Amino acid sequence: MKYIGAHVSVAGGLEYAVKRAVQLQATAFAFFTKNQRQWISAPLTTENINKFRSACINNNYTSKQIIPHSSYLINLGHPISSELKKSRTAFLDEVTRCQQLELRLLNCHPGSHLQKITESQCLKRIAESINIILHQTSGVTIVIENTAGQGSNLGFLFEHLSAIIQDVEDKSRIGVCIDTCHAFVSGYELRNEYGCIKTFNEFARIIGFQYLRGLHLNDAKSTFNSRVDRHHSLGLGNIGLTAFSWLMKDQRFDNIPIILETINPDFWKKEISWLKSQQK
Ligand SMILES: [Zn+2]
Ligand SMILES: [Zn+2]
Repeated sequence: MKYIGAHVSVAGGLEYAVKRAVQLQATAFAFFTKNQRQWISAPLTTENINKFRSACINNNYTSKQIIPHSSYLINLGHPISSELKKSRTAFLDEVTRCQQLELRLLNCHPGSHLQKITESQCLKRIAESINIILHQTSGVTIVIENTAGQGSNLGFLFEHLSAIIQDVEDKSRIGVCIDTCHAFVSGYELRNEYGCIKTFNEFARIIGFQYLRGLHLNDAKSTFNSRVDRHHSLGLGNIGLTAFSWLMKDQRFDNIPIILETINPDFWKKEISWLKSQQK
């Protein structure tokens, strides 16, 4: 079973994310549980939680179909300890919100070294941040995403994600989400079936499908190996439709949320229905 949807807006309230997913005929969705560009948001009220929960139940969305995304401001590998503390506090709040909403997955970007510490020091910090936060929470799996590798962002190599996982104590609560645009612009070939097979063989060898907890399906406006993060609608970018059709036919991508973050929300309904049609 494939769960396919998009990263939807929460304008109007969290329950509107569910309503938008329903309108798209989506079987999965992603959203922000708070404003992604602000450090502090008001805590969730019982009313917020109940409205979201009933919307999910009434529309048959279970926690394995929903993958919230954390704020872009958080850097779990920040080189400056006061800033690192701020990020950890904000991330703890994000995990707590997921717990309150009875969600089981939280997608985040690993972190950035900001040219102040080495890559491996930064990866250690990220794992340490995750260990601290897992210790203070329960039931939520942290899903680190591969990045485009812009600036000093880590996570653009499968080896980075694997190094973080290695240092996380509770392996049952750490996973990864693979973004096709980010992989492609980081040098993982996806333009033909041979490239897809090779890229995901590498994924299996370096990380392992047991850690795969989500997919972001985006075509790329930016070019192969450019390390520039510019998403595009499916089939309109430099990856092309072959990869997305291939992914839909492979059972290793079953039972995880598959999320579009493509640039034109007007195409989402059509993209979702096309993806569903590619399954066999
Ligand atoms: Zn993504
Ligand atoms: Zn991106």
